[in-house]
Amino acid sequence: MQRDRCPYCHTDVLSQETKVACDACMGWHHRACWDEHQACAACGAASYAGGPSDAPRVERPHCFRRGGVYSS
Ligand SMILES: [Zn+2]
Ligand SMILES: [Zn+2]
Repeated sequence: MQRDRCPYCHTDVLSQETKVACDACMGWHHRACWDEHQACAACGAASYAGGPSDAPRVERPHCFRRGGVYSS
């Protein structure tokens, strides 16, 4: 059984934890570890798969779905 081990803190990355995969080597990191290091601890790449699109600062207006415009 293969385990994904975070190369930054050297502990297992559990499936229920928030994690990100390096865009270059696909190595799993804890999200918090990546945020602290701001790069892959294994290969040094600065981007992770999926990009920063799930960053907490992103807020989607609910009226933006499917291009529909709601006059609330
Ligand atoms: Zn970690
Ligand atoms: Zn990497």
